Order: sequence, then structure tokens, then C-alpha cells
Amino acid sequence: MLCPVCNGLEQLAVQCPSCAAQSADYGRTVDFTAPYAPYQPDIDEAAMTLSDVDPAVSSCSHVACCPSCGAVFEIYVRKWR
Ligand SMILES: [Zn+2]
Ligand SMILES: [Zn+2]
Repeated sequence: MLCPVCNGLEQLAVQCPSCAAQSADYGRTVDFTAPYAPYQPDIDEAAMTLSDVDPAVSSCSHVACCPSCGAVFEIYVRKWR
């Protein structure tokens, strides 16, 4: 599983939920909220086949920042298989 946005294969294009302006990717949520978190869920991914439908496994959460109104919101990017 690979996130196209994290790997630079796809540009994230989302609309701000507040003002509908085009917003830019602000990085992964995990990097944004806890850059030094000791827990790395990706490492155990191979052993977690049962949780394949879990949105946290099948999608990558990113933080987007609206350049117009300054809103910061979370979005989920579907990972490629
Ligand atoms: Zn990602
Ligand atoms: Zn906005």
C-alpha cells in the first residue's frame, strides 16, 4: 500500500470545507501532529491483514491548509495497492 500524495505521484487537490477555496497539502497528519511518535503502525502492516478495511490502513490521512481563510483540516487519501 502506498500513498500517491506522500510519494509525489499525485497532487492533492481539495476544497476548503469553510470557504470552498482550493487548499494545499500540508503533510501527513502523523508528521503534523506527532513527528516524534514512537509508535509506527506501518511497520506492523503485514501482520494486520484483518484490518485491511480499516480507513487508517487503506488510506493516508493528510492535513490541508486553506490559503484563503487559514482553515486547517484533515483529509484522507486512498492508498494505491
Ligand atoms: Zn500520504
Ligand atoms: Zn477556506
